[in-house]
Amino acid sequence: MPSDAQRPRLSNRMEQAILRLLDQALGYHPDACRCPRCRRDVVALALSRLPARYAGSPTGEVLIDVELQRVQVQAELLGALDQAIRIVKARPHHHRSA
Ligand SMILES: [Zn+2]
Repeated sequence: MPSDAQRPRLSNRMEQAILRLLDQALGYHPDACRCPRCRRDVVALALSRLPARYAGSPTGEVLIDVELQRVQVQAELLGALDQAIRIVKARPHHHRSA
C-alpha cells in the first residue's frame, strides 16, 4: 500500500465547476427535487457526459479553472446540468412525498 505522501492527490476541476453551477441550474427547475440524493444523481449524470479535467500541479489547476470560467464553457456546463436535471426529474429514485 502506498503511503499518503506517495499517493497523488488529484481533484477533477470539472467536478468543482459543476458543483458551483448546480444551484444556478436548479433555479430554472423550481419543481425539481433538491434532496441530497437527487442532487448527487444530477451531478453524477452531468459529469458522466463531460470530460474530466485533472491537473498535475497547482498552476495547472488555476489554468483549467480559468478555462472552465469562460462564458462559452459555462453555458455548455449549464446545458449538461439542465439535461441531467430533466432526466432525474422524469424518473426520481423516490416518491416526492417521502
Ligand atoms: Zn430527491
